[in-house]
Order: sequence, then C-alpha cells, then structure tokens
Amino acid sequence: MVIVGAGLAGATTAQALREAGWRGSVTLLGAERHRPYDRPPLSKELLLGQPAELELAVDFAEHDIDLLLGRTATQLNVEARHLETDGGPLDYEAVVLACGAVALDLPGTAGLPHVQTLRTRDDAERLRPVLAAGGSLVIVGAGWIGAEVATAARAAGCAVTVVEAGPHPLAGTLPAEVAAPMAAWYAEAGAELRTGSPVTAVHEREVELADGTVLGADAVLVGIGSRPDTAWLAGSGVPLGTDGSVLADARLATEAPGVYAVGDCASYPSARYGRRLLTHHWDNALVGPRTVAATLLGEPATHDPVPYFWSAQFGRYLQYVGHHGPEDRLVPRGDPAGAERAWTACWLRGETLTAVLAVDRPRDLLQGRRLVDRGAAVDPALLADPDVPLKSA
Ligand code: FAD
Repeated sequence: MVIVGAGLAGATTAQALREAGWRGSVTLLGAERHRPYDRPPLSKELLLGQPAELELAVDFAEHDIDLLLGRTATQLNVEARHLETDGGPLDYEAVVLACGAVALDLPGTAGLPHVQTLRTRDDAERLRPVLAAGGSLVIVGAGWIGAEVATAARAAGCAVTVVEAGPHPLAGTLPAEVAAPMAAWYAEAGAELRTGSPVTAVHEREVELADGTVLGADAVLVGIGSRPDTAWLAGSGVPLGTDGSVLADARLATEAPGVYAVGDCASYPSARYGRRLLTHHWDNALVGPRTVAATLLGEPATHDPVPYFWSAQFGRYLQYVGHHGPEDRLVPRGDPAGAERAWTACWLRGETLTAVLAVDRPRDLLQGRRLVDRGAAVDPALLADPDVPLKSA
C-alpha cells in the first residue's frame, strides 16, 4: 500500500488501514519535510504566537507505517501499478491519493519576495516574523484565510488592508444578508476592508487596484482559494474533474484500477445532496480515511458526511454544517447586522433544514447538525427564535 500525501487524510488513512486489519506494508509519502501536522492552527494559534499542537497524534512506528518525508511522487503509471518519485521508483498493489490542495497564486506575483500564500507550516513560519515586525500588510481576499490572517496581523500591531474583489467578505460562499455585516468585524479590529475593486498589479511594496488606488505594502498575503494538488497526475489515466479533483466514487475508489482518493484532492458523489462535492474541510479529511480503509479491505462503506467546518476570526468562533444552495431559504436566528455578537443563520429547503452557520452559538451548531444529518423538517417560526432550541417540527 502506498499513500501519496502525508497530511491529515494520508496519515489518518495509514492509521485506519492498520486499525481495520491491513497486514501488508504501508508506505506514506510526504513532499514536506515535517512530520504530519494539522493545518488549522497555522492561521490561528501559530500566527497569534499562542501554543499550538501541530503534530498529528499518529504513532507511525507502532503501526509499522513506513514514513518517507521530503519525498514527492512525480508520476503514476496505472497499468504497471508503479509510482515515480524524486527519490526513486515505488511499486504498489493499491495507491491512495491524499495529496491535498495548494493555495492559488495571484497571477504575476511569482518570485516576488514580499508576496506569499498560507498553506504549509513553512508558509506560516515565513509569515510569523512579517507580522512580528508590525509593518503594513495587504491581504488579497476576504475569505476564511484572509479573515484569520487579518485577525492575527491586527493582534500583532500591523497596519492591515484587506482587498476583496467581491462586494463583501466571503462573497462566493455566503449571501449578502449574512456576510455583508461581517465587514464591520474588520473595522472593529482596525483593519481596512476595500471591496469591489480587484488587484490589477503587485509591485515591490505597492499593490494597485482596478479603481486606480495604490496601496503601500511591506508584505502581501494572498488568500484567494485553493485547488487540488493534482497537476502531477495529468495524463496518468487517473480521472480528474475540471476543478482538478480526483474523481472518486462513493467508496472513494477511482475508475483507475488500484487507485483510491481522499481528503482535499478528491471529489465524491453525494447522494445526500444529489451532486459531486469537493470540500476543503478538515472534517472531510478526517472521516474519509475510514471509508478508504474499509473499501480496501473489501468491506461495504460510503463516504457522504454532512460537511462541517469552522473558523476563528475577529474574536468569534464560526461553525458551518450542511450544504445550502441559492434556492434554499435563509432564516436568521438573531440579527447578523445587530448589536448582539452571537447569531445563527439557517437554510431551509421547503421545511427541511439544509445548513446552519453559527457565530458563537455552539449549541445551535450541535442541535442543527443532528437535524441536518436526519434531513429533519423544522418549524420556520420557531427556528427564527434564538431563545427556542433547534428541534424538529
Ligand atoms: P493536505 O493537508 O493539503 O495534505 C496533503 C499533503 O500531501 C501535503 O503535505 C502535500 O505536501 C503532500 N503532497 C502533495 N502532493 C504530493 C506528491 N505528489 N507527493 C508527495 N506528497 C504530496 N479546515 C477547517 O475545517 N477549519 C479550519 O479552521 C481550517 N483552517 C485551515 C487553515 C489553513 C492555513 C489551511 C491551509 C487549511 C485550513 N483548513 C481548515 C483546511 C484543512 O486543513 C484541510 O482541509 C486539510 O488539511 C486537508 O487535509 P489533506 O490531508 O487532504 O490535505
């Protein structure tokens, strides 16, 4: 068994295989030189200078997992069940692709020393002294990463400007009723948010916007999204989607014989939502490995979890569970634009609860998660009352 990618999904797959009774060899290949670690603290505790447990609690020696770090898979030959790596070839019986995602670069910024993205531990180690120096930071993108880095950079005393091409934070993810009020969180933290004017050029210590504004910047952090790290699989015979994801089935197997995929690099057909999903969430990378391990051991298993993720930004804890579409009706519990810090947004299709976003309301999230999982019908009037617990109709 060869697993490509020693992130959360890869390391957890190796462990799950052993726990499920896989007796053959297990080789876990990781391009990074660090032992497998968790990414969420990179944009939170690590940048804020708080203690962070980064290393994953997997005992590789005890599970007889051969961990090859600083080793990158460069080519896959499906027919021959053969992998080329930068440290020599590897044959396999089955290969699990757990190669994750890479951060998107801003075009035209390659090689500029003061411009960076945040995906790896090395990225975070590079950004930390930039924040500690307390200069001016321009963050491109008011998404999840942009908001978390803005939080840390303000705490470090940097002058922060966040540039967002869309009309409000999280424009591609959440509707304006919910996300537009989040603009106030930036102002409250002392960060300047400029929406609606994309970056047109980045020069040494300057960022130019489409509306002609020129912003001074000691450093630039680009947080405009991520894509599956699968370019190396082009032409290998492993099916890839237009979004770059490895096309897995509900058991997380691919159509290529002996090839499986899990975590941020893989999309899967969700019967729950009637469409193929590609999610870049920690929880998805944690639970997928159980399905891959079961599939490899010939046991029935299906990967179709209720999507879940969280974010810590501007002193708030955000949790989202489920999946909503533009056709779903938004029902706020509390007022996102009001004086109360804590509120929840719910989405309904008919009377069925499809998704919940809870801001500092963890109980709503817990109760909502069960209802979303069951596809439960709810009473919209009761749902809108933040003093009434979330429950089925
Ligand atoms: P990855 O973690 O990307 O690991 C893949 C590994 O494979 C990498 O180490 C890569 O170097 C390696 N690799 C790639 N190609 C090859 C190759 N060809 N050969 C060998 N190795 C290879 N999610 C949340 O739900 N909540 C959060 O608060 C949150 N915060 C985050 C903060 C940051 C800064 C980042 C970057 C992500 C955050 N996430 C969060 C997302 C979450 O961390 C990811 O969904 C999760 O890491 C996915 O795990 P993975 O193992 O699939 O991929």
